[in-house]
Amino acid sequence: MKPKIKSPKDWDRRFLQVAELVASWSKDSSTKVGAVAVRDRRILASGYNGLPTGVVDSQFRLEDRDTKLLFTQHAEANCISFAARTGVSLLGSTIYVWPMPPCAHCAASIIQAGIGRVVVYEVVVPQRWQQSFDAAADMFSEAGVALLRLPESADTVPDEVPSNIASKIPPGLRSISS
Ligand SMILES: [Zn+2]
Repeated sequence: MKPKIKSPKDWDRRFLQVAELVASWSKDSSTKVGAVAVRDRRILASGYNGLPTGVVDSQFRLEDRDTKLLFTQHAEANCISFAARTGVSLLGSTIYVWPMPPCAHCAASIIQAGIGRVVVYEVVVPQRWQQSFDAAADMFSEAGVALLRLPESADTVPDEVPSNIASKIPPGLRSISS
């Protein structure tokens, strides 16, 4: 059977494609985020935003915004937690996050897990998250974690740049509604 998904040649884009697929498993109706931790082109762990395993995901908890924020673990944190649960070290790995970059809390977890590189698409982030994303970019820069923001079009692939410079690249074409 022929695969339905067209696979890009670039491995960073391939794993962003995996993160996008993982994001689609989230039960959150407004924001679906996926994260995949990779080393040597092998997936070590994955996660999407949602309630912790075993916690009842009632309609109210999924739909009432404040309650949802209280109960939800972000995709990156979920990915890191899963690695901890299974005894997999993420030291020196790359984490791919789709569709938006890590927030400040997840950035702290990424740094503490020893993840060395973060790859995201260059997107316009929701205004209410901007401060958190800026703090995340500062933390990555200071802690020596490389942040690569890929343009969504594969035509122009930038060289890897430090996150303090990457954060000044003008945002891409796509915006996120939620
Ligand atoms: Zn987060």
